[in-house]
Amino acid sequence: MSLLNPPPRLLMGPGPINCYPRVLSAMSTQLVGQYDPIMTGYMNEVMSLYRYVFNTNNDATLLIDGTSRAGIEAVLVSCIEPGDDVLVPVFGRFGHLLAEISQRAGANVHTIEAPWGEVFKPEQIEAAIQKIRPKVLALVQGDTSTTMLQPLEDIGEICTRYDVLFYSDATASIGGNPFEADKWKLDAVSVGLQKCLGGPSGSAPITLSDKYVQTVRKRQHVEAGIRNENHMDGLGLRIRSNYFDIPMILDYWGTERLNHHTEATSMLYAARECALQLREESLENSINRHKLHGDAMLAGVQGLNLKPFGDLKHKMNNVVGVHIPEDINGEDIRHTMLHQYNIEIGTSFGPLHGKIWRIGTMGYNARKDAVLHTLQALENTLRRAGHKLQSGLATDMAFDVYTNEEN
Ligand SMILES: *Cc1c(COP(=O)(O)O)cnc(C)c1O
Repeated sequence: MSLLNPPPRLLMGPGPINCYPRVLSAMSTQLVGQYDPIMTGYMNEVMSLYRYVFNTNNDATLLIDGTSRAGIEAVLVSCIEPGDDVLVPVFGRFGHLLAEISQRAGANVHTIEAPWGEVFKPEQIEAAIQKIRPKVLALVQGDTSTTMLQPLEDIGEICTRYDVLFYSDATASIGGNPFEADKWKLDAVSVGLQKCLGGPSGSAPITLSDKYVQTVRKRQHVEAGIRNENHMDGLGLRIRSNYFDIPMILDYWGTERLNHHTEATSMLYAARECALQLREESLENSINRHKLHGDAMLAGVQGLNLKPFGDLKHKMNNVVGVHIPEDINGEDIRHTMLHQYNIEIGTSFGPLHGKIWRIGTMGYNARKDAVLHTLQALENTLRRAGHKLQSGLATDMAFDVYTNEEN
């Protein structure tokens, strides 16, 4: 085996994407001890930075160590007791994931489904809540499998009226599309770094409302010798995971600093740097940048004589689905893009498998040069594969977007 030396790929799929170089630097910074005041100081900074990212004042804003689904699992397994009703509106692959994780946590899962490429209207969700009266509503914001962005702004008010905990997985959308945890009355949100936040996968920032925290605190179990308060042992059903036991994780991140896991220090450095970069750029500028480069990519693929997928009114800023032309082998194109140009574009899952490519413009790669190189390489690859197109039109159309939107 030789020195680690991966090729310099340009990752233009639906995630992961290339990291901001400053995030890579932060990750190679030396470790400090778990309870070193420097480390606990960084933990407090991370909590404060992610309150900015989520637009929240929630005290309970911290990292779950693991990829995005670790955040999903922690939120769901900590609040679901066996037999609880959970409603999951499914409009893509990640809705199915929320349903599966809820079911494993013991929930009675109820799903409603929207066709892939569409989103739900608030009335549809309200009607289902009215009928099912769930304890939890679990709803994806941006589902990369379909590129759709579910509007959330009216859902929290509905959940409040029916006393439902409102949870959203905003992994794919945060930082590149508007997100307002407090204003939209979210009780729990989980994300990851590897989409618009421009980091590697492996850390899952979450934020939790007081209502959510009170709900899971009722299930807190006393570990003999670690807490000697008189707890309500036996009163609720114990959370069925130690690693994802949110009350224990809160006690580790809180002022008591009770030992739980050893915080993944290098990943915390990465998460901190991602949020710092976002705060320096400002959320508003970051969202506008994702919109600009997303629009340029959308115009560009249309200039390649390709048809974008789904309801474009509800497309995420940071990824576009593209129908693969009938006479073209989608995997051959991806292979050429990867091996001749070092550019990765995404395939798709489930009902869309083999039907669309997914092209992302997110985080560090939401940049003009990345968009233009990808379009140029795709134009050449498609033309050589026999696809009819007008040479130069794709980048011209992208440049038009830059000229119109940049001013
Ligand atoms: C990409 C994505 C994830 C990623 O989950 P990992 O566990 O980090 O692979 C989760 N949820 C959504 C909605 C996503 O788009």
